[in-house]
Amino acid sequence: MGDIEDKLATVIGDRTSKVLTDVFGIKSVGDLMRHYPRRYMVRGELTDIAQLSEGDEVTILAQVHSSANRPIRGRKGSILEVIVTDGSQKLSLTFFNQAWREKELKVGSQGLFAGKVGVFNGKKQLAHPDYQMIADGTDVDDATKNFAGKYLPVYAATAKMPSWKISQCVEMAISSLDEIADYLPDEIRSSHNYPTLQQALVQLHAPLDLDHADLARERLTFDEAFLLQLMLVMRRNELKKLNTVSRKAIKGGILEAFDAALPFELTGGQRTVIAEIESDLAQPHPMHRLLQGEVGSGKTVIALRAMLAVVDSGGQAALLAPTEVLAAQHVRTFEKLLGPLAHGGTLGSSDKATRITLITGSQNAAARKEALALAAHGDAGIIIGTHALLGEKVEFNDLGLIVVDEQHRFGVEQRDALKVKAQKPPHLLVMTATPIPRTVAMTVFGDLDVSTLRELPLGRQPISTHVIPVLEKPTYLERAWQRIREEVSAGHQAYVVAPRIEPGSDSGSDIDFLFGEDSPDIASVSVLAPELANGALKGLRVAELHGRMSSEEKDSTMRAFASGEIDVLVSTTVIEVGVDVANATVMVIMDADRFGVSQLHQLRGRVGRGSSSGLCLLVTGSPVGTSARERLDAVAATLDGFELSRIDLEQRREGDVLGANQSGTQSHLRLLRVLRDEALIESARSDAENVIATSGDLTSYPALSAEVARMARNAAIDYLDKG
Ligand code: ADP
Ligand code: MG
Repeated sequence: MGDIEDKLATVIGDRTSKVLTDVFGIKSVGDLMRHYPRRYMVRGELTDIAQLSEGDEVTILAQVHSSANRPIRGRKGSILEVIVTDGSQKLSLTFFNQAWREKELKVGSQGLFAGKVGVFNGKKQLAHPDYQMIADGTDVDDATKNFAGKYLPVYAATAKMPSWKISQCVEMAISSLDEIADYLPDEIRSSHNYPTLQQALVQLHAPLDLDHADLARERLTFDEAFLLQLMLVMRRNELKKLNTVSRKAIKGGILEAFDAALPFELTGGQRTVIAEIESDLAQPHPMHRLLQGEVGSGKTVIALRAMLAVVDSGGQAALLAPTEVLAAQHVRTFEKLLGPLAHGGTLGSSDKATRITLITGSQNAAARKEALALAAHGDAGIIIGTHALLGEKVEFNDLGLIVVDEQHRFGVEQRDALKVKAQKPPHLLVMTATPIPRTVAMTVFGDLDVSTLRELPLGRQPISTHVIPVLEKPTYLERAWQRIREEVSAGHQAYVVAPRIEPGSDSGSDIDFLFGEDSPDIASVSVLAPELANGALKGLRVAELHGRMSSEEKDSTMRAFASGEIDVLVSTTVIEVGVDVANATVMVIMDADRFGVSQLHQLRGRVGRGSSSGLCLLVTGSPVGTSARERLDAVAATLDGFELSRIDLEQRREGDVLGANQSGTQSHLRLLRVLRDEALIESARSDAENVIATSGDLTSYPALSAEVARMARNAAIDYLDKG
């Protein structure tokens, strides 16, 4: 008898197993067992033919109604047309020169038919489909004995490997196997009333009834969540065991001086998070914490305080920002908040003071050289940079803390590339302004402790958002420009966001379009800016900002905007995250349907950051009733980033959420859906915590331990790295 690790070829023969490997990556018996059916067809319940659409790849259950073989006019050969029916509608199957099939496709018998739905002379048809006739229960010897059950599994299939062939292979695999060892601890399995692994696999492929299939699927889905949580909890515990330098603020140090000079009261939420971070930093083990917060909730000052605590302890802190605009802005913000405390080492400066330095890819050689020296010798306590921070030449004197701003732009590898620059494992604070639902955080950042900031600083006015449908209300756009003029004459500033830098060419964008085809009509910064400056916004100071400008140009434009020398910034999404100019009160987003929900929420978070209320206008040519329009209406309807991120995630393919390797057979997360399976993930997490709490590592559960190790090898949990 066989084992789940056995090569498939030992069970089903070389040729078939080669096709399964080539098409689905299925190599072992276990891989095949994990090629789960998508759904079931019920024997006798014929597929509704009216539902089939042209172009669909389908597997249907139907009954042969009639058949006729006729010669092709004017040519050699014959055509066999078999009409199948679901009882009301008919579908035609055509075969060329295969009259012999008439014997197999007996009138009155039922079969599975697979192919691509075409239309010929106004009739739906499958041209030379694959088929498998189903035994009617009398001819026991029929090779299709796997169809003896009432439920027929339907698999992801191809023309080379139709669903029923997979089903036959699975059946052979099942009967070749010994009892499959169950890695799930008995007590956990029985607490959920789950079947054993063997039972679950059998019931999923050949269910007694749909309840059994559902329970089997739940058990296997739970397994995925449980193994993943075990892996993450173990990883978190491993990290906690590492030794590092504890970093505490000192009496009379820079942090204290900073607090005393802070121009605003910290919110309750900020204070809670600060306490969590301070207690982490005081440990002799590295912090691994995710700070997720609403847009504008004030994460920057929290990060700065953590960095100052490290500076107090004699170390350095690095902040990794996703864009140059943002890195430069952080330097400005920190310098403003720190005042003289940011100018250490200069004549007459306070001995508490430190220095801030910026490292980016496009700075000139002299600036780069100076920045590298400041970081390497430890003169700079705070080092801010983009990807360039990860470069080989960048060295630190004593790197104690890494802050990653807007985590979703960075991968784990990048975090790690920075970590190796420290002598001892550094503390890590990851920040994201894209709020994500709890179970997503648990799944994706499950090795991090999570702090959440929901509260906005007091006195913040809500942003009101409106959709401007240019198709239905072309005059509303005029009104939008009018609103900008009003805000500017009231002393405020405005953003106009366009999806493209230049019209037409597909390289002219700072983003990959999330939605819709590229089209030459999409608004671009280079066209819109002069158009507005000479037209609707004549007389206002209009400037452009986009990713093709040099970093000096970008920086000086942002500085000018921040200091009020520019009224209207026409920009791409380079301002999407983090940009903070409190005096900006209105944003017009052109072709807003081109952006995702979370992205729009991020963008509008750039206005209403001060004490004046913000206005965001979403301009779109999408008609009512389209999903693009619904997305915009959803953004207009709520300011709750957590709710919007749910909507966003629901609209993406799950693979985008959980990372790269989702579709292939190699992935261990085939059934789990982070939003749908929230309850399951919660209970898997607490089961995982319990198992680890009682067993330390998994030595008392060798089978489980091996399964987790296997998952750790396979799972590429990259989260939104790609996005
Ligand atoms: P985000 O969480 O989106 O990164 P920021 O850290 O940029 O938000 O903060 C948004 C704005 O709110 C900044 O101008 C910041 O100085 C200000 N801010 C932060 N905390 C407070 C507070 N407690 N009271 C008033 N303003 C605050
Ligand atoms: Mg920020």
